[in-house]
Amino acid sequence: MENRVYNFSAGPSMLPLSVLQKAQAELLNCNGSGSSVMEMSHRSAPYEAIIAEAESLLRELMQIPDNYKVLFIQGGATQQFSMVPMNLKVNGKADYIVSGNFANNAAKEAAKFVDVNIVANSKPQNYAEIPAFDSKDFDPEADYVHITSNNTIFGTRYTQWPETGNVPLVADMSSNILSEPMDVSRFGLIYAGAQKNIGIAGLAVVIIREDLLSRSCDKLPVLMNYNTYANNDSMYNTPPCFAIYMAKLVFEWIKEQGGVAAVYENNVKKAAILYDYLDSSSFFKATAKKEDRSLMNIPFVTPSKELDAQFVKEAAQQGFVNIKGHRLVGGMRASIYNAMPNEGIEKLVAFMRDFEARNK
Ligand code: PMP
Repeated sequence: MENRVYNFSAGPSMLPLSVLQKAQAELLNCNGSGSSVMEMSHRSAPYEAIIAEAESLLRELMQIPDNYKVLFIQGGATQQFSMVPMNLKVNGKADYIVSGNFANNAAKEAAKFVDVNIVANSKPQNYAEIPAFDSKDFDPEADYVHITSNNTIFGTRYTQWPETGNVPLVADMSSNILSEPMDVSRFGLIYAGAQKNIGIAGLAVVIIREDLLSRSCDKLPVLMNYNTYANNDSMYNTPPCFAIYMAKLVFEWIKEQGGVAAVYENNVKKAAILYDYLDSSSFFKATAKKEDRSLMNIPFVTPSKELDAQFVKEAAQQGFVNIKGHRLVGGMRASIYNAMPNEGIEKLVAFMRDFEARNK
């Protein structure tokens, strides 16, 4: 569509054009209700249908087993850094794998509530890889093991899950949920901020195994207790109605694409367009360790900081925006979530070839 840029932002990030168009078409009159979703009572029949459909689509897309609850919670993934330890605490200790900045933030926050044991940490490698871990490293008495499935800033992802025995595995999947099939039954709890592969900011999705709900203490603030959401279909109070509606539209879109397996197949192709070029170039270089490369966030550099800055500037002029790397890594980062069309990456690579030829 004319005037729309290719937005490589790490989040909030691109939404599928058809989703935006649907939201636009329904903005003034959603489903014949005569009002927009933003104006509807969350207790009305049309809205209850929206939230119920959002949940059922997510269950279908991720094949969520029946003994898991799906919760829609206001606030971002950062709020889950607190809610996880507050709710899952039993013995008062938890294992964390620190594979990036957000994983580190999660561990720091948890340390306010439980004793945090850092099982593995790739900070010495500037988080360019998933740190090595062994199933023997985990404490069998820990309340849970926390990982970050995809590291948004550093562009790495887990390709195999830690074996934690009976200790529940908890994953922050903010930047790769719905991008590849995930076996939900491997996890005690999954959470994700919505502003990448789910929809828009203001919402986090939590998928929790039902037996873990009995751990929450009654003294927790009402909105910090998972049971408040689980017992009230995520509507104890007013939920982020529009964000949940947008999630429903995105879930419908993923289903139309053929579901998560089909989206994953295409994500592998999309990432390969960029990685293959980066690997063939003697000018650009991908910064993450090859075996651990993310399919969603691809950081890379030119030979110098000056050329990095020049690249970011010229790229923006060509309609490739938000490609500057995070300050902790420098260089560039292309975030290519589900909604980034293949042609966005093809055109970016064509521009990179041209830039390389002019600046080598
Ligand atoms: N975890 C990961 C993996 C993230 O990428 C982000 C945000 N980019 C967060 C947590 C924090 O999310 P929020 O800003 O929604 O609190």
